[in-house]
Amino acid sequence: MSSPKGSKKVNDWKEFVDKSKSATLEIVNKLKEQSKGFSMGKQSKSVNAVSSKKMTGDLFDKCRKYDTAEKAKELGFYPYFRPLESAQGTEVCVDGNKMVMLGSNNYLGLTDDERVMKASIKAIEKYGAGCAGSRFLNGNLDLHNRLENELAKFVHKDAGLLFSTGFQTNLGIIQALIGRKDIVITDKWDHASIIDGCRLSFGKMEKFEHNDMADLEETLQRCQGANGILIVVDGIFSMEGDIANLPDIVKLAKKYKARVMVDDAHALGVLGKNGRGTAEHFGLESEVDIIMGTFSKSLASLGGFIAADKKTIDYVRHNARSLIFSAAIPPANAAAALKSLEIIQAEPQRREQLWKNTQKMMDGLKSMGYDIGESCTPIIPLLFHENERSLEVVKNLPGGEQFVNLGLMPTDIMGIAFWRFASEHGLFINIVMPPAVPPGRTLIRTSYIATHTDKQLDFALDVFSKVGKQLAIIP
Ligand code: PMP
Repeated sequence: MSSPKGSKKVNDWKEFVDKSKSATLEIVNKLKEQSKGFSMGKQSKSVNAVSSKKMTGDLFDKCRKYDTAEKAKELGFYPYFRPLESAQGTEVCVDGNKMVMLGSNNYLGLTDDERVMKASIKAIEKYGAGCAGSRFLNGNLDLHNRLENELAKFVHKDAGLLFSTGFQTNLGIIQALIGRKDIVITDKWDHASIIDGCRLSFGKMEKFEHNDMADLEETLQRCQGANGILIVVDGIFSMEGDIANLPDIVKLAKKYKARVMVDDAHALGVLGKNGRGTAEHFGLESEVDIIMGTFSKSLASLGGFIAADKKTIDYVRHNARSLIFSAAIPPANAAAALKSLEIIQAEPQRREQLWKNTQKMMDGLKSMGYDIGESCTPIIPLLFHENERSLEVVKNLPGGEQFVNLGLMPTDIMGIAFWRFASEHGLFINIVMPPAVPPGRTLIRTSYIATHTDKQLDFALDVFSKVGKQLAIIP
């Protein structure tokens, strides 16, 4: 695996800093500002009020002034929107160079599976390229109905409902279910689409500390008297790979008469003996009211669905705005998801291999001394802790002193340095910075695929060992 063409060598830290001395600091400060504005509370009237005395400004001013991304690019640190020049397999081509892919949600390795691709092509031949409208009025295909029935059967629910993306699924279900006198309770680490679904609903939103059952119970007590309560959690949390404490959530939901919805975007095909997700993993399929999933991970496509009892599905089908007012999932995507679902059920060995790969990486990373948090799934984060020795290493690189003194948080410095070093060695990994994680919790997100070979994983472990030692993150 070689360094991406055009990527800067690790040693030119001076150039990295000199190009714009304050740019990184500015980027981080802006991110911090954004993360402040990320709170869920309703904005106060005084913030929203338009003062009649003031002149109206130009709405686009903020866009003209926005240069955070440009500055990051100038610095050589822009880890977003990287164009892949190949299918998303276990290796990808970036800038003409091969990289081992450790940043994908393609858990079962089906995105480039011949059978899935052929199913898409056949669907295009039969149904055309698009649906030309929403399922509600004119875009519904027999293929859509078949897929939602198969998905419902798979997760052991009465009925299913397809949406065009996973994001739209969460928007639609929460907006449709949570009325003015209802309350939706979310885990603080829930996915952005759940948060945005809450914003779209007319009800009240409450949050509890991540996987903290005492806090959930207090929240439920505060919410008593509501018309209805829905608790929504990610099954596997997308950034740190830990699992929701579903047994206790379900117990509390029963005690306080709440309904439970699990977003199984990352758990479908991954958790449970048959890959049916978090509820199957805990033996709680009949206790979870709504299972939500996306097609953009194990199902190797694009789209999303919910599965629940017939009456709930019927209600959501006729009340979810993101379904009714948006075009149907294209035939190629629906067919790919249907074929993937068939393969998931026919080939449990894929999931077994995914867990073998996961175990190998967990053991390898832990034995090197990495902190991988509470992860127990194929999403394995590398967490950083303030460490004088690491900062010394970065300081001693050409230009490193200035870089360290920019005023970044130590964990940001370590994350940026780690991402650069590992990318240069040929690993495609993701850096996750605030506001996607709380300030001070910058991490490297790695994720694993059933079709990764031992050779690729050994290569990755070797890079992690070299880079970790180089940066004094591990002994
Ligand atoms: N829920 C979770 C937990 C996710 O991680 C994601 C996307 N990564 C979504 C929902 C949205 O799904 P999609 O990208 O398929 O729209």
